[in-house]
Amino acid sequence: MQQEFSFQVSPETAGNADALKHHLSREKGLPFSEIRHVEVLKRSIDARQKKIKVNLKVQVYLQEDFKEEKITTPEYKDVSNADAVIIVGAGPAGLFAALRCIELGKKPIVIERGKDVRARRRDLKKLNIEHVVNEDSNYCFGEGGAGTYSDGKLYTRSKKRGDVKRVLELFVAFGATKEILVEAHPHIGTNKLPAIIQDITKTIKKYGGEVLFNSRVTDLQVKDAEIQGVTLLDGRKITAKKVILATGHSARDIFFLLYNKNIHIEAKPFALGVRVEHPQVLIDQIQYHTPNRGEFLPPSSYSIVKQVGGRGVYSFCMCPGGIIAPCATSPGEIVTNGWSPSKRDQATANSGIVVEIKPSDYAIFGTSPLAALKFQQEVEQKAWLAGGKTQTAPAQRLVDFSNGKISGNLPETSYKPGITLVELGEVLPGFVHKSLQKGFVEFGKSMKGYFTNEAVVHATESRTSSPVRIPRDPATLEHVQIKGLYPCGEGAGYAGGIVSAAIDGEKCAEKAVLAMG
Ligand SMILES: Cc1cc2nc3c(=O)[nH]c(=O)nc-3n(C[C@H](O)[C@H](O)[C@H](O)COP(=O)(O)OP(=O)(O)OC[C@H]3O[C@@H](n4cnc5c(N)ncnc54)[C@H](O)[C@@H]3O)c2cc1C
Repeated sequence: MQQEFSFQVSPETAGNADALKHHLSREKGLPFSEIRHVEVLKRSIDARQKKIKVNLKVQVYLQEDFKEEKITTPEYKDVSNADAVIIVGAGPAGLFAALRCIELGKKPIVIERGKDVRARRRDLKKLNIEHVVNEDSNYCFGEGGAGTYSDGKLYTRSKKRGDVKRVLELFVAFGATKEILVEAHPHIGTNKLPAIIQDITKTIKKYGGEVLFNSRVTDLQVKDAEIQGVTLLDGRKITAKKVILATGHSARDIFFLLYNKNIHIEAKPFALGVRVEHPQVLIDQIQYHTPNRGEFLPPSSYSIVKQVGGRGVYSFCMCPGGIIAPCATSPGEIVTNGWSPSKRDQATANSGIVVEIKPSDYAIFGTSPLAALKFQQEVEQKAWLAGGKTQTAPAQRLVDFSNGKISGNLPETSYKPGITLVELGEVLPGFVHKSLQKGFVEFGKSMKGYFTNEAVVHATESRTSSPVRIPRDPATLEHVQIKGLYPCGEGAGYAGGIVSAAIDGEKCAEKAVLAMG
């Protein structure tokens, strides 16, 4: 017999199978000897009160053995000889679009400017140590896209639970642990993501799809407002009547290409700011109200938003126990983001802290949809100049930042290329700087201990989302002007993270295949 229960327990009880059985026996009147297995279905931490609780939803197996169900991929069939769909970009949107094409019987041809995971790792090393930015192979570009060397947080604001479950189950089928189906805030970790991504590409190829690395798309072939295929940097032309464009938020050349070809794009709101790093132990103390979080609580995270002078200032992509990464995609710019290993066991916690940007904020760059890109780029370039024309990031202690004072020195940082002392008012646009200065003070009121000079502010966090949208017909998901072209994922403005990009990839593939008949 199976019975489902939802209840709250201490972290110690939640983390110990026997203690959990005793709890169920005591509180729910279940005979202890008859409980064969307790399967946790959902887990979340409630740290609002001094005494921390874990919310659990469990399935109890009474006098019945539990049989572990293996989560597998759908039954893919060979699509080598099927009609092709071109997919530009091998990020989560592109890869999940490719898998869905195979599932629906069409052949995906994935075209990726970057390198495979292994070769890409060498370029990341060069970036971290020698400060060399490869424009096709970096933290944003390459097999798996921007998601490969990330924290792999898998939560999304997407309301469609069915779609989210499907994507998470696919991640499990490709090697993620089943925990991601249970945790309220699941994550995979940088050490595990590359193997999962490699397995996805291997599967795409195994069933007759193609994955072309080192292949930058430089042009779209369009005839009579209908897509015909794409042209690569080396002059190769690849033809197909359906092209899913999933090139991510950092593919500025694609936005320029569309603009120059008079293919409609539009500006959209985005956010920009800095990445702040605190000792993880400090964040744990703030969030868990205890000097030591112990062995049963995970490294804590935070999510915070304040209104400062009518503008949102908020945390973005917080990485507990993580590292700040250099995420520039071109030489001459500094962009930061963060990642964590699966255990989140690094000594520091980092988070983007960003300010809402509106079109009127960058009116000096004109009214074209590319104005936002120019604004974003200028901030990144100023950081590069202030940092000494390397990947060294300009930085300041947090309280000094808010007080507009140059720090006397800087503590160690997880950001491998290093940091240098700068008054960040020199780098950030005035209104961003002021909003952040006040925002941090406000954060400190809600999170006692957060506003401290132990924390370091790094510039810049500028690629939180795409500043451009590639508009599409909501019914067919085709570009509003170009038949057969499917703008997809974060770069096109329809996703804001790994899961939502994957969901959008699947949706675009479904629409493209449906239109092929
Ligand atoms: C360091 C870091 C940490 C992150 N952490 C998280 C996290 O924990 N959780 C989360 O949800 N999100 C995280 N993100 C964001 C997340 O990775 C993105 O939201 C997601 O990858 C977007 O997916 P996408 O497929 O739309 O685009 P992308 O992942 O950006 O993929 C686009 C792909 O297109 C390729 N491409 C671009 N131009 C061309 C061209 N001209 N020709 C061929 N190929 C091209 C690029 O090389 C890239 O591989 C993180 C991002 C970074 C950089």
